[in-house]
Amino acid sequence: MRRILVAGNWKMNTGRAEAIELASGLVEQHGTAGPVDVMIAPPFVWLDTIAAVVRGSAVQLAAQNAWCEPSGAFTGEVSAEMVAGVGCGWVILGHSERRQLLGDTDELVGRKVTAAFSAGLEVILCVGETREQREADETDVVLTRQLLAGLESVDAGVVDRLVVAYEPVWAIGTGLTATTVQAESAHAHLRNQLAVRYNSNVAEATRILYGGSVKPDNAADLMSQPNVDGALVGGASLSAESFLAIIEAASGA
Ligand code: PEP
Repeated sequence: MRRILVAGNWKMNTGRAEAIELASGLVEQHGTAGPVDVMIAPPFVWLDTIAAVVRGSAVQLAAQNAWCEPSGAFTGEVSAEMVAGVGCGWVILGHSERRQLLGDTDELVGRKVTAAFSAGLEVILCVGETREQREADETDVVLTRQLLAGLESVDAGVVDRLVVAYEPVWAIGTGLTATTVQAESAHAHLRNQLAVRYNSNVAEATRILYGGSVKPDNAADLMSQPNVDGALVGGASLSAESFLAIIEAASGA
């Protein structure tokens, strides 16, 4: 049985006071474990502060990125060890904004994933096709390539700490959402690829989240699909009200 996970990616948003208020609101409403796992990914600079806010609650903490070496001369970067040290259990890797705007190649994402597992973190590995790739009927090929590159050096022994997020690039921050049929088809494809890469037990146990303009009014439909095990939420995670409404919708899915 895969537990539903609702994760909020705050991206480069929130000031310090706003971050504390947002996290505190979630802790108030979701302080103890319910039927759905809840996670937030604030900007790096607030992680220490937010770790203190969520400590002891059921709200889990993620970083939005981490570098692929444990330490050294990498000005401006943050290692997976640092992320773990500040109190994060999780890291999001391979987000399409990093792939498209910030130079994360398939190969670099793979190295980051390996480093994050070595640091003891759980990983959300994001994959997703652009509009052009979907229109050219390349969705499955792109998803397979990104998934396998991300897991290139990841052996079955740590893969129980993996969550995959299917995030069609054309749906992120655009207000466009994949239909339930499109999402289910991509998720089923990813699960098949996990079975090929590892085995059917790994494929069945691995959670695959959908991300791309998830809102309170479409969350339940998306998560009612058999292969959709939760949501990675961007914009709607910046308001406690809408994020909690998505958690509520997920609880009934
Ligand atoms: C995201 O950033 O992962 C995301 C899915 O954003 P949004 O929900 O705003 O589309």
